Amino acid sequence: MARFTGKVAIITGSSNGIGRATAVLFAKEGAQVTITGRNAQRLEETKQQILAAGVSEQNVNSVVADVTTDAGQDEILSTTLAKFGKLDILVNNAGAAIPDSQGKTGTAQSIENYDATLNVNLRSVIALTKKSIPHLTTTKGEIVNISSIASGPRSTPEFPHYSIAKAALDQYTRNTAIDLIQHGIRVNSISPGLVATGFGSAMGMPEEVSKKFYSTMATMKECVPAGVMGQPQDIAEAIAFLADRKTSSYIIGHQLVVDGGSSLVMGLHCQDFSKLLQ
Ligand code: NDP
Repeated sequence: MARFTGKVAIITGSSNGIGRATAVLFAKEGAQVTITGRNAQRLEETKQQILAAGVSEQNVNSVVADVTTDAGQDEILSTTLAKFGKLDILVNNAGAAIPDSQGKTGTAQSIENYDATLNVNLRSVIALTKKSIPHLTTTKGEIVNISSIASGPRSTPEFPHYSIAKAALDQYTRNTAIDLIQHGIRVNSISPGLVATGFGSAMGMPEEVSKKFYSTMATMKECVPAGVMGQPQDIAEAIAFLADRKTSSYIIGHQLVVDGGSSLVMGLHCQDFSKLLQ
């Protein structure tokens, strides 16, 4: 029997990148999945990838929705319950480093950018989690939040609002993990490093620039010690591990870093000391 047979999962932000890879993996492993995002065309591409993997259409619920809206959250949840009858796993993955409308970075970013960034990366997670709790209590389910190594403790001066949102999300993961384990619900999170997805494009980078960014970063050992760019599948496998009680039942409120070593490198150690000391 596949590891998610009999399980029902909602994966937000599954019209692209990490969410798409997770939805395909979960569906291949037997889950009934709700896939969702705003972009109907990209969401259909996810659905086609799932069907191409041999999964029955009966096991896919596709919902075009904005997860920051009440109506969107309600539709994601209500259609899942209507089609599959329950909810076992909630993967709060939708997120973005929303570009400032004036193209500003750092402290010059607008307060409107703060609101929009917190809305998608934090508020929507809290809202959808609150709505899902009664259903996850019934199934003794799992929540996996997708954070980022940008959450700290190092600074990310160019995109302060995004990293603030993810830092707050990490504390939300810890708080809910302890609050909800009494009801049998486990909450954990993943902190990805650089992963080649649509994330750069969503920040306003042209496709070619985004590709160049990822390929260049992977060659710099002070940026990605593993020497290869992270792929959506790397994160999907880690999400599956934390969403599967058979493999991770005693892990509660954990922040699993999946970053090829990026967050372990200190600026100090990026220098070639043998040359500096000559
Ligand atoms: P992508 O841009 O490829 O995917 C983001 C997904 O989120 C898309 O499916 C997008 O769908 C969805 N989304 C964004 N805003 C909304 C919204 N308002 N309503 C509904 N869906 C929305 O990026 P990733 O796959 O990389 O991002 C997934 C998660 O991983 C995010 O939380 C991100 O912060 C995190 N992360 C990514 C890293 C990376 O290097 N890629 C590093 C660290 C963390 P649509 O556009 O169709 O609405």
